[in-house]
Amino acid sequence: MDSQVQSVIINDAPLDSSPILEVKHLKKSFGDLHVLKDISFDLNAGEVLSIIGPSGSGKSTLLRCLTQLETFEAGEVRVDGKDMVVPGSCIGGKIKYAPAKTLRDIRLSTGLVFQNFNLFPHLTVLQNLTLAPIRVLHDSREDARALARFLLKQMGLEGKEKSYPCELSGGQQQRVSIARALALKPKILFFDEPTSALDPELTGEVLKIIKKLAEDRMTMVIVTHEMAFARDVANKVMFMDQGVVVEQGTPDFVFNQSQNKRLSSFLERFS
Ligand code: ADP
Ligand code: MG
Repeated sequence: MDSQVQSVIINDAPLDSSPILEVKHLKKSFGDLHVLKDISFDLNAGEVLSIIGPSGSGKSTLLRCLTQLETFEAGEVRVDGKDMVVPGSCIGGKIKYAPAKTLRDIRLSTGLVFQNFNLFPHLTVLQNLTLAPIRVLHDSREDARALARFLLKQMGLEGKEKSYPCELSGGQQQRVSIARALALKPKILFFDEPTSALDPELTGEVLKIIKKLAEDRMTMVIVTHEMAFARDVANKVMFMDQGVVVEQGTPDFVFNQSQNKRLSSFLERFS
């Protein structure tokens, strides 16, 4: 197998390396609504963070800030050693973002898988996977196709190259969108409730793929309401409520040991 292709989903960073993602005191408002109040966490390369918490607690907004779909007012974000914000620049309530080139590099090192797949409906599966690598990374058509076919095989979607998204099941569409995100060779992959739009019988096939990526040591941040999955796939779990990180730690700590009342009443809903 082509080693460059394989390296897309094999992270060979040692588990004890310094954090690939560092978030410090991140704050974000929509007008008067303080959606993220003071979020801090970090994640090492090759590790998986599960984020759980009630609807409206700011989970999607956090992922959108980290993938540059939203701006934020305060805080520091460092991705793979690169600062998204000029350090120490939060003066008078306004931060200064890093230069465009740095922001682009950071953006290219992150990928986001959405709840509703967000595939291009007018493009085939293969075109969905090759468009950005060709246009954004300037990969050759041939390389982009080879990588796309490899990823589709990994996702159990061989033979679907020429299908259009509407011809696929929800689970297949979500697997295509995971492959599409991987085709850009991100260092960190973010998932925003990747199975929430799926019928229950299709959830398993998508969770299985994400588990496989975790075994291959892809660095991932996963927002999910699948509690057993959140516990089993993660090295770290973070519980958010009303814009703050209420609890974070190992899966065993968050799910079994924490005495936090907000967390236990949230978890009770799933038992
Ligand atoms: P979660 O993903 O945890 O359900 P969200 O991040 O989607 O939470 O939303 C957090 C809060 O921010 C909610 O009160 C939501 O209504 C609000 N919100 C999210 N996006 C916007 C927006 N673009 N404009 C205004 N308010 C928003
Ligand atoms: Mg959300």
